[in-house]
Amino acid sequence: MPTLETSYSKPVRLTFYVADLKCYLCGSVAGSIESQQSLTAAVRNGQPVGLRRPGQTKATPVLDWQRLRCDRCGGPLYLDESDVITRRVDEYNWLDERPRRGRPPKRILEQRRRERELSESQAA
Ligand SMILES: [Zn+2]
Repeated sequence: MPTLETSYSKPVRLTFYVADLKCYLCGSVAGSIESQQSLTAAVRNGQPVGLRRPGQTKATPVLDWQRLRCDRCGGPLYLDESDVITRRVDEYNWLDERPRRGRPPKRILEQRRRERELSESQAA
């Protein structure tokens, strides 16, 4: 179980394990998955991982990615080019910021929404 050791005043650094999902048979990339724990551990512990299909900005929670099949040929998928990244998630309040140019960038809103949805689905 992850512990909350960081106070809210500091930016939180979250470690994400990410990997491409590739087809054994035709080699096409079916998407990428990400998780805050190691991807194999997530599967073992029955934790959903976030699946992002090509062209989608939104990751959807998937309980068992190993059951997924290639969209193109129906072949089995494997994890390719797994990587560990660190994302800074700060409790940044845009309302406290001096007005700059209106609203926060859409990219950031999108990213924060994704991460909120992912963490909610993991907490469920
Ligand atoms: Zn395929």
